Amino acid sequence: MFIPINSETPKFSCNACGSCCSHIRGIIPKEDREFIKEHAFGKLPVVQLVPAEQMTFPLWDWEAKRFTEWQNDADVDARINPLRAIMDLNSGKAIILTYFMDGETDACPFLKNNKCSIYHTKRAYVCRLFPFNRGPFIQQEGMILKESLFGECGAMEHILPEVPDEFGRMVKFLNEAFPDGSFINAVQNDVIIEWANRAIVDLIRKKIIKPAITYPYEFLLKRINNSEKVDFTDFLVNVGYLTEKEKEGLISRFDGNIDAIEKIKPFLS
Ligand code: SF4
Ligand code: SF4
Repeated sequence: MFIPINSETPKFSCNACGSCCSHIRGIIPKEDREFIKEHAFGKLPVVQLVPAEQMTFPLWDWEAKRFTEWQNDADVDARINPLRAIMDLNSGKAIILTYFMDGETDACPFLKNNKCSIYHTKRAYVCRLFPFNRGPFIQQEGMILKESLFGECGAMEHILPEVPDEFGRMVKFLNEAFPDGSFINAVQNDVIIEWANRAIVDLIRKKIIKPAITYPYEFLLKRINNSEKVDFTDFLVNVGYLTEKEKEGLISRFDGNIDAIEKIKPFLS
């Protein structure tokens, strides 16, 4: 829906068609799917545990814990299972980075009568960032394919042609055009992806973890499935990389989109 009100910048407004929540299986962007197929099945420290076609959107470990609680409140079986893991040869544990909902249909298990039954909660980043796939900061400035920022959403058709090409103007425009907060959530989710990647590299560099990457995928998968599992952020506390208080502070910082707000600030004047 296109609502040109109080500003020259068009404003995005979700028309609650439910399409994005009805088909969450295999909807990952083409370039992400290609990356996963090429690298995520045993060639990198983080291993994808299900085929790209079976996966639904990723939930960070702390989000999966919340969804596990909310599924009881909402009386649904969200079938939350590990999606990506590191097989750590030092601890012998499978460190779970993200989860996914392996529902019986393509629709999100929380979608009831075309409405999200946990809409009143914080939900997950992937719920709150749509119609974005990602924000513009994770790509190199000057090389941004505007279309790749967005998923398929009928309410986008009047916004997309208006998105400026110049990076600074694009950031300002996106911040104004998405008063629902989806842009800021997309930027923050990218910050979290970068944080997780940096933390993994740092753990390897400090020899805190030793990821298994030289095994055939089927063997690796079996080993991960048979190993004791620990959530990534819990593991960081267990090995003293973060204190429990620091972990809580970090998640609270993520929840508040603090990093994203700081990141876009220079572009808003
Ligand atoms: S974000 Fe787009 S696809 Fe999703 S419910 Fe709103 S209008 Fe529909
Ligand atoms: S939790 Fe709600 S917003 Fe998120 S995908 Fe499911 S139905 Fe959609």
